[in-house]
Amino acid sequence: MKHSTLTEVWARRSLFLCLLVSMAVARSNAATSYTISLANPEQHLVEVQIMLPEGKSQRELQLPVWNALYQVRDFAQYVNWVRAKDRAGRALAVRELDKSRWQITGAEGGAVVEYQIFADSPGPFAAQFNSHHAFFNLAQILMYPVDARSGPMVVCFSQVPDTWHVATPLTALPDGEFSAESYDRLVDSPVEIGDFKQSDFDEGGGHYRVIVDAESGDYDMDAITAMLRKIAVAATSWMNDRPFDRYMFIYHFPRGPAGGGMEHSYSTAISVNAEVLSRAPEVLTSVTAHEFFHLWNVKRIRPQTLEPVDYTRENYTRALWFSEGCTSTAGDILQLRGGLLDEGHFEQQLASGIGELERRPARLTQSAEESSLDAWLEGDAYYRRPERSISYYNKGELLGIMLDLAIREASHGQASLREVFQWMNQNYAKKGRFFSDSDGVREASEAVSHADMGWFFAKYVAGTEEIPWNDFLRSVGLRLEEGRNTRADAGFVASRNFDGPMAVAAVTAGSEAERAGLQTGDTILEINGKAAGQDSSEEMGRFTAGDTITLRVRSRRGAERELKWKVGSREEISYEIKDLGTVTPEQRARRAAWLKGEAQISQETHPR
Ligand SMILES: [Zn+2]
Repeated sequence: MKHSTLTEVWARRSLFLCLLVSMAVARSNAATSYTISLANPEQHLVEVQIMLPEGKSQRELQLPVWNALYQVRDFAQYVNWVRAKDRAGRALAVRELDKSRWQITGAEGGAVVEYQIFADSPGPFAAQFNSHHAFFNLAQILMYPVDARSGPMVVCFSQVPDTWHVATPLTALPDGEFSAESYDRLVDSPVEIGDFKQSDFDEGGGHYRVIVDAESGDYDMDAITAMLRKIAVAATSWMNDRPFDRYMFIYHFPRGPAGGGMEHSYSTAISVNAEVLSRAPEVLTSVTAHEFFHLWNVKRIRPQTLEPVDYTRENYTRALWFSEGCTSTAGDILQLRGGLLDEGHFEQQLASGIGELERRPARLTQSAEESSLDAWLEGDAYYRRPERSISYYNKGELLGIMLDLAIREASHGQASLREVFQWMNQNYAKKGRFFSDSDGVREASEAVSHADMGWFFAKYVAGTEEIPWNDFLRSVGLRLEEGRNTRADAGFVASRNFDGPMAVAAVTAGSEAERAGLQTGDTILEINGKAAGQDSSEEMGRFTAGDTITLRVRSRRGAERELKWKVGSREEISYEIKDLGTVTPEQRARRAAWLKGEAQISQETHPR
């Protein structure tokens, strides 16, 4: 591993040159060509110029209403104005067709469309431009020509500050522009522009680039690349595949609220709060393993219901329990294989994941498939209440672990979740086909186990039957032990959307919190003097009964107030995973294979 200075990826050019090149490209191969101007960081204003090649007189341009997160975010709210002209500079008529679509008339000889868009949302799902850097989820700022979405695209960045560089998995052209075969590929490529640190390494024939934008004392590049090597080796060996030559990790470790990762086919963008990173570096490992595995699951092993992407409305899919949840299962396995997670911690995580599901009454009313369909409601605080919804991440990860155990049992140890993913990779991803949501996963599970797995999917994926954890865990000599814990209880439930503030979703009737005046819908600004953010739930977890909690909150009407009360307590079921009283050699062998994510070696001798 080495920390190299920047040599290959850069772009620093005048708007004028950018335009000349763009016009040449647009004329020569009918590419749609974008120039993104970074002239106004203080106001967070990005100016975009789209060169449309010759074609029909009437063209439509669409700005996605969603991307990355399964939430409609209506990026058009940030568009200040749109205008168009022909190649000779004469103004063309622009008509807004709906809130996210514009029609240009008179574009037969080509057209130049310009618009200004505000970009000041932090995080890997968003677009942010300020005096420190620019990070773009391009779907948030780039409109696409409706009749040429699948055609070639060229992008260049103009008025980039002198000390800034460009990092992106997009193909770099010799003149400082970047190209993509289609709009979908273009917006599957995050862009970081700024004064970041870079480290490159090669592993197993793949070239990996690490981009970090953070305070230099807040992270250890050597430790990060050592971790990434282990994940890359574990993942490519587990899948027996490496469907890329180059892959890019883009990290932000801000001091403020942060959290989350966004998967892409040839890269990932991940954001972790600097303090969380130093206190719990395993958070970074776990997010990275999840996002890296996505390069197969969801980016290549892809449900039919997500294809083609509909940028104008929700893409409803029943498969997120698999595409997200089982990506976490695979992430666990990669960490176990890479020596980044040990059996004890894995079993602790499993027990705590089971507790998270068991404590949500909605597990009996909302299936994993329904939770996937309802992903689009996750921005709403009421939806996130325990009696309304479960998480397809949480239940999906558990289902992945149980499916793994069930397949091992049905196949007498000869197949596992690994074979399911490899089968889907061969039969769908490699053939350019998409699988039919849960049926596709069942098909793969049955193909590798040679057994009927319909019961598993009917009861636990499409259905809401209680999962008999011990029936699954027995095969590896483990059992789930229920206990009773007295837990501190502050008397309210709060949650937040990915980038939103912490909102009070419920206040327990008769609690001290209610008496202090806390109300559902209040926004929590501070907890005991500390700004509420990503690690607030952890913060809340540290309270013990009798502690005083002080909240600074803002009511729905906008008034701020400070509330103070004594934390109470309540009984809660807790879970632990333990060895069975007697663990047989068969169970031990099964467990060893399970923790490596591998099928057991065939017990039979060579076939005669
Ligand atoms: Zn994910």
